Amino acid sequence: MAQETIKYTNGEITIVWRPSICQHTGICFKGLAPVFDPRRRPWIDPLAASTEAILEQVKKCPSGALSILKKEEENK
Ligand code: SF4
Repeated sequence: MAQETIKYTNGEITIVWRPSICQHTGICFKGLAPVFDPRRRPWIDPLAASTEAILEQVKKCPSGALSILKKEEENK
């Protein structure tokens, strides 16, 4: 069965989130609260920080629940 993925794009990059492997560690929302806010729906706002800041934060996700699709990759 395909794993559920939820995507949030800012037009430049797409943040991909896999809820089933998220460990709810809080690393993303402590590191970049304007983008990652679990009290909000949708909880990820890809327009709330620069692409650069989002790329840095996504790298720190310990479970791999967050990943990034670059625009070019998405159109493949
Ligand atoms: S950093 Fe990754 S594992 Fe932790 S809450 Fe955020 S998405 Fe989930």
